Amino acid sequence: MEEPYTMESDCLFCKISHGQTPTEILFENDTLVVFKDINPHAPVLLLFVPRKHIRSVNDLTDEDQGILSELIVAAKKMAKEHGVAKSGYKLIFNVERGGGQVIFHLHLHLIGGWH
Ligand code: 5GP
Ligand code: ZN
Repeated sequence: MEEPYTMESDCLFCKISHGQTPTEILFENDTLVVFKDINPHAPVLLLFVPRKHIRSVNDLTDEDQGILSELIVAAKKMAKEHGVAKSGYKLIFNVERGGGQVIFHLHLHLIGGWH
């Protein structure tokens, strides 16, 4: 299958989402991949990463709306699978340095599991 998204050189999440690291992928489809955060500060901390390289929420365009909704619907499903749907969880986009973003490839954090 032809790869629809080009990788940004030296982008960790491009490498992970294109299968170029040994990272365990929990879920994937044509649009996105899901994997555990390497440094979890909560019992459940998953990252939802589009295969398309988008730097941050600031760089989203109208044509990315499908990607965004797929990220959120995947998060909803994984929350159920990881047993935090009922107890509750946070969905967070850190945006640029002041918002705590350190990996400049768009990603959604699912954080929960305290209760
Ligand atoms: P940010 O602060 O950019 O919103 O979030 C980046 C997240 O990626 C952090 O929570 C960090 O722990 C996680 N992370 C950084 N490097 C790696 C890695 O190599 N593998 C995985 N699984 N997570 C990573
Ligand atoms: Zn990237």
